[in-house]
Amino acid sequence: MKNIINRKITESETILPGMACWLCSLKELKVIKNSSLTKKDLSSKLFAITDSAYGKTLEVYRCMGCGFMQCSSVDEVLGYYETLQDEEYENTRKPRSLQMKKVLEIIKKYKNGGRLLDVGAGNGILVEQAITMGYDAEGIEPSTWLVKKAHDRKLPIYEGTLNSLKPKELYDVVTIIDVIEHVTNPLDLLSSVYNLIAKDGIIVIVTPDVGSLVAKLLSWKWWHYRVAHVGYFNKNTLNYALDKTNLKSIKMLNPSWYFTGEYVAERINKYLPSFMHITLPIYFRNKIISINVGDSILGIYAPKTPKNNEH
Ligand SMILES: [Zn+2]
Repeated sequence: MKNIINRKITESETILPGMACWLCSLKELKVIKNSSLTKKDLSSKLFAITDSAYGKTLEVYRCMGCGFMQCSSVDEVLGYYETLQDEEYENTRKPRSLQMKKVLEIIKKYKNGGRLLDVGAGNGILVEQAITMGYDAEGIEPSTWLVKKAHDRKLPIYEGTLNSLKPKELYDVVTIIDVIEHVTNPLDLLSSVYNLIAKDGIIVIVTPDVGSLVAKLLSWKWWHYRVAHVGYFNKNTLNYALDKTNLKSIKMLNPSWYFTGEYVAERINKYLPSFMHITLPIYFRNKIISINVGDSILGIYAPKTPKNNEH
């Protein structure tokens, strides 16, 4: 048995019964990236939002049918998020708040106000901004630690997952920002969200674009190849997943990201030999920088056919 687990999987090998594509259910998955990392090496530390071990992933497989890329060797990651703690994430609250404000400014053009739910709400940064901008906003988050951080700020974040959520009314907007790439059951996530939106509600998804030029140029060193990312979407596979959930695309664009100079320098240094490391003057360390290299997708979706909300 041990030999079977440890055997090296070759590039051209086609895998194998029991491992189906999370989007199209086809059982023809090909290993495209080997990894020495196995399920037993995983810990919630590797799932931290600010984890910077770029390029470190579980084995990555590509579906020979729809092209979706997934880490088939895990089937359940929720436990890692429930116990997750991330001090650095809390420390980057300021640039992340600006980032969420910009995302909400885009959303506002499609749905200005109303009930908003943020899925995977973290420490409540988006919800906080949304409330400021006039939404009746709340969030749901599995990490006990992050929910506590949100509650310290009196933000309405429920602890748990969508299965445990019993909203008093349906939502006009549901945001899923940098979440769908973290789950092993993306279609279940989308169906749950579909059931939570109002008749004319919208769903907003942000996720890394594995089909982007930057992803192709950096290949397996791309910063979004991380242990926590178990599913990798491009525009086509994202639209395909939404289409399967009876949702249609209204708009797709590349959002900008906001970071402090210090955060960016630290990340760039990961790619450089130590003698080339960047050290920034204090002024630039704290300055917030907007970056858009086009490797993130923001998609706005609505029900394909009018929803019957009697449920
Ligand atoms: Zn597939």
